[in-house]
Amino acid sequence: MLVRADLKCYACGHVSGQIEGEENMPISQGKIYATSPLGLPKRRPDGRLTCVRCGGPLYLDDVTYIHPRPVRSFGVSGSVTQRPVAKAS
Ligand SMILES: [Zn+2]
Repeated sequence: MLVRADLKCYACGHVSGQIEGEENMPISQGKIYATSPLGLPKRRPDGRLTCVRCGGPLYLDDVTYIHPRPVRSFGVSGSVTQRPVAKAS
């Protein structure tokens, strides 16, 4: 199941982006999306992400589990039968 979370700053509360990945894989392998007009979160030399605005540490906020959508088919199955038309006499 996919998990998506906001990357929020401890220092200023700014949401620097979102991270998305499978729930059983390491968070460092997640895909990062920019939600801020300032760009993507910055990465420190030790690999940790920091706030795009102030450089503060980030934490995961508003964690959401994304359920895969079921595949639906709208095709007509079976045969189409026509009703007998009543004749006017
Ligand atoms: Zn910040």
